[in-house]
Amino acid sequence: MSQLSRRQFLSKTGMLAGGTYPAMLAMGMLRPAPVTPLKIEGGDKTGKQVIILGAGLAGLSAAYELMKAGYQCTVLEARERSGGRCWSVRKNSSNVETGQPLQTAGFDEGLYYNAGPSRIPHHHLLTLHYCKELKVPIQVYNNVNEATYYFSEGKGPLSNKKIRAREIHNDVRGYMSEMLVKAIDSKQLDAPMTKEDGEKIIEYLKAEGGLDPDKLYRGIARRGYKELPGAGTKSGVIANPHHLNDMLSSGLMDPDFYNVAEYTYELQMSMFQAIGGMDMIAKAFEREIGKNIRFQSEVTSIKNVSGGVNITYKDKEGEHSLQADFCICTIPLPVLSNIDHNFSSDVSRAIDYINYIQTGKIGLQFKRRFWEEDEQIYGGITHTNNELTQIFYPSYDYLSQKGILLGYYNFNEKAKRTGELTYLQRQELALEKGSLVHPQYRAEFEKSFSVSWHKTKYSMGGWAIYSNEERQTVYKALLQPDKQVYFAGEHLTYLNAWMAGAFESARSVVDSVHARVMAG
Ligand SMILES: Cc1cc2nc3c(=O)[nH]c(=O)nc-3n(C[C@H](O)[C@H](O)[C@H](O)COP(=O)(O)OP(=O)(O)OC[C@H]3O[C@@H](n4cnc5c(N)ncnc54)[C@H](O)[C@@H]3O)c2cc1C
Repeated sequence: MSQLSRRQFLSKTGMLAGGTYPAMLAMGMLRPAPVTPLKIEGGDKTGKQVIILGAGLAGLSAAYELMKAGYQCTVLEARERSGGRCWSVRKNSSNVETGQPLQTAGFDEGLYYNAGPSRIPHHHLLTLHYCKELKVPIQVYNNVNEATYYFSEGKGPLSNKKIRAREIHNDVRGYMSEMLVKAIDSKQLDAPMTKEDGEKIIEYLKAEGGLDPDKLYRGIARRGYKELPGAGTKSGVIANPHHLNDMLSSGLMDPDFYNVAEYTYELQMSMFQAIGGMDMIAKAFEREIGKNIRFQSEVTSIKNVSGGVNITYKDKEGEHSLQADFCICTIPLPVLSNIDHNFSSDVSRAIDYINYIQTGKIGLQFKRRFWEEDEQIYGGITHTNNELTQIFYPSYDYLSQKGILLGYYNFNEKAKRTGELTYLQRQELALEKGSLVHPQYRAEFEKSFSVSWHKTKYSMGGWAIYSNEERQTVYKALLQPDKQVYFAGEHLTYLNAWMAGAFESARSVVDSVHARVMAG
């Protein structure tokens, strides 16, 4: 025994197969994950049963933590897969949307796109924690790329042209800096500052905006070249800046093109993704929880009964009933709203009231990565003001032959209109509008698969959206348990639209259940 290496010891004791992380951590083989593992200690958990509704990330992480602590858990999942909205579309993935036939993906082996989450912010500690604890390898996701395009369809001299993001970003920055410098120089800026401060700010603005010695913006190399620098006498020719008026009248400074991606807290680099598809995170939980998940088990009724809960669900064999001490319900509210229950009127009202965003994506498989080969775009997002809203370029398998790019990722009215189209019409829309940016589309296109989340069975929406008033009213009703039933999921956090929301919410509910058991 003394001759065994630590790895051999772990293999022999079967620890490498599952639940290894705490053991390896204890033996000093791993650094702790960004957030400490949840510690649930004490209390009489013997025989305590918890039914968890939904095997999305909230349900999976709740079951994982409770099982580690000794609770008996059963997870009921309506779909035949885990992950819920955390789903990557690959060959043979299928989806059911209301009013549409079953759609099955015909993508080539090895290619995928993330129909749900695609980005992990560097400060989503719990998401990164679970990636580390469950050994899900991650890679950098390139969210910000100056080589992508702004494409404004409409009026104005710069519309219907693809313009590199770096041109617009630097021209706008340059003109804004120039204007501010003029205001400071002519003392028109109504801000209290000493002469020295003013001079320092002007120096800063000259650097920030790329102004020339006359404090004017006349273009700068950072916006790109019309002739690249090279060998010998090729010094490179800087492209002329766009006129401010042209950018304004072509809509390139409209909200569709606000350069917030770099500034929004959640979208600041560094960002990450799970290698091989974001649903690798769900699959890792599934491996840990094993047969305690019952798939294709659609919950039809949730009832508080004396001393516990009674859950009815149907599977291929028929209808079944399960009793337990507690239930954690992670079913998205638009779905839950149609399930029989005996919740209080406040809870019932909240479930019916809370809105979810309409959103959709389409994956387009191309036989050649023309965006890399012809246009040097490696990851990042092209922004448009048309139905597409955004084109996302894949942040994996750079320089390989084929690839799937996200032909659109849209929201609200645009997503609603797109969602009403047939799969073929959505594909045609993506190809027609996408060809305006990339004329290579038609020649290189192979296959598509689209997802309209608000029309997708068992989701019926992208994520919960709240007004300030709703946060103070209906939202709060679901933060408390309704007798033995607790509610969890991204919709019960201020991290809507993020996996971290599902995890944070699950942890908080697991803590509450355990505190109740502790209190006897
Ligand atoms: C388009 C899109 C983009 C996103 N982008 C990102 C991103 O880049 N980064 C990020 O971190 N997050 C992102 N998110 C958010 C993230 O996917 C969610 O916050 C998270 O996956 C929600 O997990 P959940 O467990 O709360 O809900 P869900 O994943 O919806 O889980 C609920 C589960 O309940 C099941 N269910 C439903 N009805 C029943 C029933 N009757 N009986 C039994 N089971 C049922 C469902 O099948 C599902 O498995 C995105 C989401 C979408 C839709």
